[in-house]
Amino acid sequence: MPVPLPDSVWLSALALLGLALGSFLSVLVARVPLLLAEDAHPGHVRLLARLSWPPSHCPHCQQRLRLAELLPLLSWLRQRGRCRHCQQPIAWRYPLLEALMALLSVMLGSRYGLTATFAAALLCCATLLALAWIDAETFWLPDLLTLPLLWAGLLFASLASPWQLTASVWGAAAGYAGLAGLNAGYRAWRGQPGLGGGDAKLLAALGAWHGGLALPWLLTLAALGGLIWAVCTGPLRARRALAFGPFLAMAGIALWLWPLPLWLAWMEY
Ligand SMILES: [Zn+2]
Repeated sequence: MPVPLPDSVWLSALALLGLALGSFLSVLVARVPLLLAEDAHPGHVRLLARLSWPPSHCPHCQQRLRLAELLPLLSWLRQRGRCRHCQQPIAWRYPLLEALMALLSVMLGSRYGLTATFAAALLCCATLLALAWIDAETFWLPDLLTLPLLWAGLLFASLASPWQLTASVWGAAAGYAGLAGLNAGYRAWRGQPGLGGGDAKLLAALGAWHGGLALPWLLTLAALGGLIWAVCTGPLRARRALAFGPFLAMAGIALWLWPLPLWLAWMEY
């Protein structure tokens, strides 16, 4: 679809949209684990309440942030990564998330143009990025995020075409059954769960978005990513647990940026 704006204006608008979304994500990844620590099944009303209150503040000195300090990325750069009031360092995850989301917004916008697919892809990728972050920090993939992501994928496919909905439903079911079955088998063999239950729900959501035929690709990409990470950082040698969610999420984002051909995946974006 042709975009009736000069390239530079279009790309800047995409980057700004990504920065704004990234700014929201950094609030999400900071507050969801705190909320879950208080209440394991808080529900979406409490989540929304927790996201909007208290207003953004410095976690060290509790000083409420002014409008100029809420500007994504720019305020962090201008303040050289420190709180203006107490000079304590501001966690690097905020500017990194914002920059990553801006990059994703530009890449997805360049691929899909100003379409409903772009909006869906951006929303899906933003949720995946938040899930990756939360899982890496807390080993938790909250149902609060995985289940709406799954339903949204099914809904998106239902709006596209009947055969796409079929691919989506089979993708969700096979994704869940695959990892939940693997987990049950591992538990029977070793007496402990190998993967978290959230991983199966996340793969179900990815199956809903990308279709059942994309599942082997998603799993291969995620396993390769996890293996490379484990070799590079050494958790295999240290026998430390490794969160699999971030690698599944990255594989899901990769398939949005470089979709499988239609004849292979049966999903048309
Ligand atoms: Zn402070």
